Amino acid sequence: MQKFDVIVVGGGHAGTEAAAAAARVGAQTALVTHSFETIGTMSCNPAIGGLGKGHLVREIDALDGLMGRVADRSGIQFRLLNRRKGPAVRGPRTQADRKLYRLAMQEEIAGQQNLTVVEGEAAGIIHKDGHVTGLAMVSGEILTAGAVVLTTGTFLNGLIHIGEKKIRAGRMGEAPSMAMAQSLASLNLPLGRLKTGTPARLDSRTIDWSGLDMQAADDPPVPFSTLTDKITVPQVECGITRTNPKTHQIIADNVHRSAMYSGQIGGVGPRYCPSIEDKIVKFGERDGHQIFLEPEGLDDPTIYPNGISTSLPEEVQEAFIATIAGLEKAKILQPGYAIEYDYIDPRALTPSLETRALRGFFLAGQINGTTGYEEAGAQGLVAGLNAARLAARNEPAHFSRTNGYIGVMIDDLVTKGVSEPYRMFTSRAEYRLSLRADNADQRLTPYGEELGLVGHTRGDQFAAKARALAEARELCESLKATPKALTEIGLTIAQDGVRRSAFELMRYQDVDVPKFAAFWPELAQIAPSIAEQIKIDATYAVYMERQKADIEAVKRDEDLPIPADMNFRGIPGLSIELQSKLEAVKPTSLGQAGRIDGMTPAAMTLVLAHTRRFVSESKNQSVAS
Ligand code: FAD
Repeated sequence: MQKFDVIVVGGGHAGTEAAAAAARVGAQTALVTHSFETIGTMSCNPAIGGLGKGHLVREIDALDGLMGRVADRSGIQFRLLNRRKGPAVRGPRTQADRKLYRLAMQEEIAGQQNLTVVEGEAAGIIHKDGHVTGLAMVSGEILTAGAVVLTTGTFLNGLIHIGEKKIRAGRMGEAPSMAMAQSLASLNLPLGRLKTGTPARLDSRTIDWSGLDMQAADDPPVPFSTLTDKITVPQVECGITRTNPKTHQIIADNVHRSAMYSGQIGGVGPRYCPSIEDKIVKFGERDGHQIFLEPEGLDDPTIYPNGISTSLPEEVQEAFIATIAGLEKAKILQPGYAIEYDYIDPRALTPSLETRALRGFFLAGQINGTTGYEEAGAQGLVAGLNAARLAARNEPAHFSRTNGYIGVMIDDLVTKGVSEPYRMFTSRAEYRLSLRADNADQRLTPYGEELGLVGHTRGDQFAAKARALAEARELCESLKATPKALTEIGLTIAQDGVRRSAFELMRYQDVDVPKFAAFWPELAQIAPSIAEQIKIDATYAVYMERQKADIEAVKRDEDLPIPADMNFRGIPGLSIELQSKLEAVKPTSLGQAGRIDGMTPAAMTLVLAHTRRFVSESKNQSVAS
C-alpha cells in the first residue's frame, strides 16, 4: 500500500496542473493515469488559447502552472487574436505540435519534485465517515491519501458514435472508465450526460494546397509564458477552405444518420463548437462555412480540419469532404466522431472544487461540465492546490471573479451549474477591462507567491519586472508638459493651461513611450516590454479607477461568509423556489448567493438577516455549552 498526501487521477490537462500544483506547494503527490505515454495528450484540436481561453493560460502561467510554458515549447503557429481590438479582449493562441506538446508536458511532470506517476486504472474512491481515505486500483492495489482529485475528462462511461456505429471508449483508441463511473454513482453525486465531437483527420499529402488561401503565424510570435524569452519552434502556415452548397446537400440528405440527429445521443453538446450537421440544420441559409486546415505537427502529415466536427457515418464523411475545394482527393486518416460521457453537476462542489458530499474529494476539468484544455488546466490547478492545502490542514485558497478568469469560471460553475459544455469567453467577466491577458502576472503572481505555488525563478523575474514597471510609471507620472509645449510636438490637446503627465497622455491613441522619448529623453531608458505595458496600463487607468468601487463592493460581499451548516429552508419571506436554489448551491458567501439566478435585492436582505441570526445563535450555543 503506497501512502501520499494527495492523489490525482488523470494525466490530461486538469490532472497535470493539479498534480504539479499540489507537488509545488509541498504535498507528496501521486498522479495516477492509464499510461505515462499519454500524459498531456490533446484529445481534440491541437491548439492552446484563443479568446477568453488565452487569458486562462496566462493566469495558469502567472501561478507558475505548466500549460503556458509547454505551449511555448510546442507552438507552431502563434497568433494574437483580436489584435486590432483593445488589449482587454485580445486572445493569445497557438496551434501546437501534438507530439511536442505531449513530450514537453511529460518532461515537466517527470521533473517535478514530490510527484510520483502511478500507471494503471483507478477503480474507485475509498472513504470512511464522510472523508476520502484513498483510491482503489483495478489491479487491486490500494493507494492512501486524505485528498483525491478526479480529472477523468471524457472517459467516465464514454461512448463514441460514428453514424450508427457505437464504440465504448474514453476517446478514440482508449478504453473508457467504467469502474470509476460505478464508484461515483454509489456516492450519490448528481451525474449528467454531455457530448462533444471531433472532425475527421486528413492526410496533408493528399490535399491540393495550390488554390487555397494560407494564414501565417505572427512575426515575431508572442509567447504565453513570462518565463519564455523567445519562441524557437519553427512556425508554419495553415490553409483556409470552405464548405459549399454541394457539401450542405450531402449533409442535409444524411442528417438522419448522424448520431446526434438520429436520437442515439442524449447528451447536450457545446453550442460554441457546433458540429457541421448543427451548422447546416441551424444556419442552412449560409452558402458556406470556413474551415481552417491546421497541421498537427512539424513532422506529421495529419491535418485537423477545424470547423467540420461530425458524427455522420464514415462513407458520408468521405462524400462531403470530397466536395470541398482542395479536399477533393483528401484521404481520411481517422473518421470524425462524437463522444458522450458522464459529468457531475458542479453545483455539488464548493468554490475550492471539493465535493460537499465527501470531504477531501475534489473534481476538475471536463468531469465538471466544461470543455477545453484551458478550462480543465485552470480548474486542475485550483483543485490540486486546495487538495494539498486540505492535506496540510490549511484553509482553502479562494479565487475571486474580481481578479481573474479562473475565479469567474469557478464561480459560474459552482453557482449556476451547466446546461451545456462550459467554455470561457471574455464576455463572462464583468471586470474584463481589469482582467487582461497582459496583466495576468500583476493580478495573480503575488497571490501565487503567498500560497507557495510560485518558484524562485518566476518569483525573482516577477519582482524585477514589478520594480521596473513601478519605476517607469513613476517617471512617466513625474514628467509633465503644458498644452502649448505638447502642441509643438504635434499633439492635439485642449489649450486649457493644465500641465499633463506623460502617463496621462499615453492613454491617447498613437502616443507611446518611444514617441515621447524624442521630447523627454529620460524615457529612452525604459525597456520595450515595460514601455508596452505602461502604454496599456495608461490606456485603462481611468476605467480601472471607475471599476474600483464596484470591485470593492463585490469583495465586501465575498468577505461575508455563510456557514457551511446553515439551512436555507424556512427563511421567513423567501420563496420556496429560491430556498431550493440556495439549498442546491449552498453558497459559501453572500456574494455567491447574490449571483444565483433569480436572487433579488429583497431576497438578499432576507438571506443576510437569516445568516446574521444563524451566526449569533451558533455563537450563543457554543458559549452556553
Ligand atoms: P482529458 O484530457 O480527457 O484527460 C483525462 C485523463 O484521465 C486521461 O489521461 C485518461 O487516461 C485519464 N483517466 C481517465 N479515467 C481514468 C481512470 N479511471 N484511471 C486512471 N486514469 C484515468 N474541447 C474543446 O474545447 N473543443 C472541442 O471541440 C473539443 N472536442 C473534443 C472532441 C473529442 C472527441 C474529445 C475526446 C474531446 C474534445 N474536447 C474539446 C475536449 C478536450 O479534449 C477536453 O476538454 C480536455 O481534454 C479536458 O481535459 P481533462 O483533463 O478534463 O480530461
